[in-house]
Amino acid sequence: MHALVVEQLRKVYRTGFEALKGVDLRVEEGDFFALLGPNGAGKSTLIGIVTSLVNKTAGSVRVFEHDLDHEPEAVKASLGVVPQEFNFNLFLPVAEVVINQAGYFGIPRREAKARTEFLLKKLDLWERRRSEMRLLSGGMKRRLMIARALVHRPRLLILDEPTAGVDIEIRRAMWDYLRELNAEGTTIILTTHYLEEAESLCRNVAVIDHGRIEAVAETQALLAGLDTETFVLNLRRPLGQLPQIAGFGLTAVDATTLEAQLRRGQSLNELFAALGAQGVEVVSMRNKQNRLEQLFLEMVARGRSGTAARAA
Ligand code: ADP
Repeated sequence: MHALVVEQLRKVYRTGFEALKGVDLRVEEGDFFALLGPNGAGKSTLIGIVTSLVNKTAGSVRVFEHDLDHEPEAVKASLGVVPQEFNFNLFLPVAEVVINQAGYFGIPRREAKARTEFLLKKLDLWERRRSEMRLLSGGMKRRLMIARALVHRPRLLILDEPTAGVDIEIRRAMWDYLRELNAEGTTIILTTHYLEEAESLCRNVAVIDHGRIEAVAETQALLAGLDTETFVLNLRRPLGQLPQIAGFGLTAVDATTLEAQLRRGQSLNELFAALGAQGVEVVSMRNKQNRLEQLFLEMVARGRSGTAARAA
């Protein structure tokens, strides 16, 4: 069964801006799925539609076979949502935030309290259960949003940029907990613009850009498809002329800066040795783009050459 099926989804905002241009997407039950894309790609719009915060212009959404137009309540009951923005009453004590949420789903208060205790302990917030929301750190608030999203035991958990602004240690702990939830059977979809996050958590990934799905693939396969990497090399002395090294694409940026393009399988050591043999000494280097940017660039290039990645 599919946890989520989105077909020909379009969103035109009131400004006339078309944020989603006919998106098709399928996520299998049990999957850990990333919706990956740069800022402005349309990720939040897509999540917003699935979670009934944004009205769609056209197309259809089904969650565990329930159609959003015909069975919105069944869709809501199947979904847990962790939005990007904190949207609680800041003066409410932590435990009440979760218990109240359970109330919206008709869960009796006794049961709600038991579930809240379980979740707050699990997410390391139990000690703070009586604190007002506003006194929590950013990472704690984020964890509280996860507890709140889980209290009605949704089969699909959707997180919009779950670790934006969360510090490294808390990020790791959150990742561990999400992995555990997924292993126990909860389907998880998260949006991210960090390739690293998709890489370390998600089995499958859809890449979205400018309101279109550019690719859907297994995360590992997608990463293995990265063809080239560009490095910026800073040189000790100004170049006389551009070195020619067989197999490597070199471009002079200025007298003491070179750009080098490496294909898969080519090594930096090989390049440094060849440059050294021509009297060119490298003092430092960095990646020109991060790997996500590289991925997008390659996809755009492939699209132009007529071999656009499959959109499932
Ligand atoms: P992402 O989550 O990938 O960063 P969004 O879905 O938030 O992208 O935004 C996609 C595009 O839609 C952006 O260009 C954004 O400016 C535009 N957009 C988002 N919300 C609105 C709105 N309420 N009105 C008009 N344009 C919007």
